Amino acid sequence: MRKRYALAHQLRHAIEKQHFEVFYQAKVDIARHTIVGLEALVRWRHESGRLISPGEFIPLAEESNLIEPIGQFVLVQACRQVYAWHQQGQSVPVSVNVSAVQFLNPVFPQTVHDALLQSGLPSRLLELEITEGVLMHDVAAARVTLEKLKQLGVRLAIDDFGTGYSSLAYLKRFPVDVLKIDQSFVRDMLTDTGDSKIISAIINLGRGLGMELVAEGVEQQAQADALHRLGCTIMQGFLYSRPAPAAEVGKVLSRLTLPTPGSVPIVKPDV
Ligand code: C2E
Ligand code: MG
Ligand code: MG
Ligand code: MG
Repeated sequence: MRKRYALAHQLRHAIEKQHFEVFYQAKVDIARHTIVGLEALVRWRHESGRLISPGEFIPLAEESNLIEPIGQFVLVQACRQVYAWHQQGQSVPVSVNVSAVQFLNPVFPQTVHDALLQSGLPSRLLELEITEGVLMHDVAAARVTLEKLKQLGVRLAIDDFGTGYSSLAYLKRFPVDVLKIDQSFVRDMLTDTGDSKIISAIINLGRGLGMELVAEGVEQQAQADALHRLGCTIMQGFLYSRPAPAAEVGKVLSRLTLPTPGSVPIVKPDV
């Protein structure tokens, strides 16, 4: 308890001092050999110099009402950074993780609108990642928020798909563009046929609903090959890139030819 209290205190201080950094991890389309997006992932630069991963402080931030300022910082920072790359001719969409507290706040669509306006980022270059649990919490309210966000022109993704308790009936009614297959399925897919069957089912479901599919946590070539055979070509994982600071990612982007923004096709069956 005391340790958590101390950490919450430090976190509050870190927010005041803006001791956060946004890292970016590439999403690649292995069929087209190109980066099709970046995911913004927050890190806390502790005063000791240590970089603290979100797994260590996001749950605490959510419980202690600190997630909104952190989420706001990441949203604005990611929009500004990707706008800067866009201005330099490197237009790549960015995905920002949205916590339950942010999403359930009725002002959230306005917050997103403001971030786009202030940064100048075209809305088609912003994608928001929301987890299933958040959408299922209050389905009617979630739909209203999702519709408002869609009207802004942003893309919507369901993160960690398959780990929550999605009602498939609701899924088809949500205006979602992307399903991100949770990394827990990818991790063991080569040895656990149950996991590869689940992945196959998610891919077919997503395709049937006209959604783009992204596999998370791809670490091995054999996993990428298996995913490709199952029909998923967009991957995110250490095999391709680790989350890195903007300065490093910028160097990689400037060496690449990126596809026309918004032209990222929905993964089609390999028939
Ligand atoms: P997520 O959104 O599912 O992000 C993917 C996580 O998997 C990231 O961890 C990423 O570094 C990690 N990852 C990527 N490729 C691989 C791989 O090949 N193998 C393994 N083992 N891991 C891989 P990270 O950056 O530590 O973030 C963890 C979680 O924290 C995120 O999961 C997300 O739920 C949350 N998070 C991160 N940034 C934010 C943020 O700005 N706001 C909110 N609300 N949550 C965030
Ligand atoms: Mg995510
Ligand atoms: Mg995920
Ligand atoms: Mg997650």
